[in-house]
Amino acid sequence: MGEDSGGGGGESRRIAMVGIPGVGKTTLVARLVDELTRGGRTARVVSFGTMMLEEARKKGLSDRDLLRKLPIDEQRGLQRTAAERIALFDEEFVIVDTHAFIVTPSGYYPGLPVYVLEALRPATIVSVYASPEDIYTRRLKDATRSRDKVSIGGIKTELTFHQSMISACSVVSGAPVKAVLNPEGGIWQASSAVMEAVGVGKNARR
Ligand code: ATP
Ligand code: MG
Repeated sequence: MGEDSGGGGGESRRIAMVGIPGVGKTTLVARLVDELTRGGRTARVVSFGTMMLEEARKKGLSDRDLLRKLPIDEQRGLQRTAAERIALFDEEFVIVDTHAFIVTPSGYYPGLPVYVLEALRPATIVSVYASPEDIYTRRLKDATRSRDKVSIGGIKTELTFHQSMISACSVVSGAPVKAVLNPEGGIWQASSAVMEAVGVGKNARR
């Protein structure tokens, strides 16, 4: 991959926000964009799944939770198009809410395969994590999503697999990984850690 990670055509710093379902990524990115814009920065949140769904809608799919059940070739095509569209955004911070892998009927499928990383060129990969128990509870209480049934043991397996996917993404893209804990009731703590990592925290060098 090239050496200009995160540069793109303009000055955008693209942040790949990854973590297993229910860990709190969407909650965290909403807060980050709020903090960044209040601090006078331009920032945009991009849900990778929503971008894929926009493309899939053109082919008649309506439920985002069915995306992961499409044939892998179709998911791959949607992923490519989404990554190419995201690369065109030019806000100072483009935060991409996505997954390191997706549980599909064919097995674990990478959310950031090399062709997606090449298009996105993330400046930083933020790996969000929480305790398996907290993730379990968050999945159960979130009625807005149709999530697959899972156990604490299954979540532990996902967390382990997440780690190995993120290591590969970092090596391939040259982007550093910032691991961020999102504890119960502690979204502010997680968002401060990300702000530091992207160079706009209270103690960060400007
Ligand atoms: P997915 O990958 O499925 O989109 P996600 O990682 O984006 O999941 P969210 O939708 O942000 O997860 O959060 C899942 C649930 O957990 C939501 O109900 C949210 O309000 C709750 N939640 C997120 N962070 C915290 C936190 N720090 N403390 C308590 N609840 C939280
Ligand atoms: Mg989400």
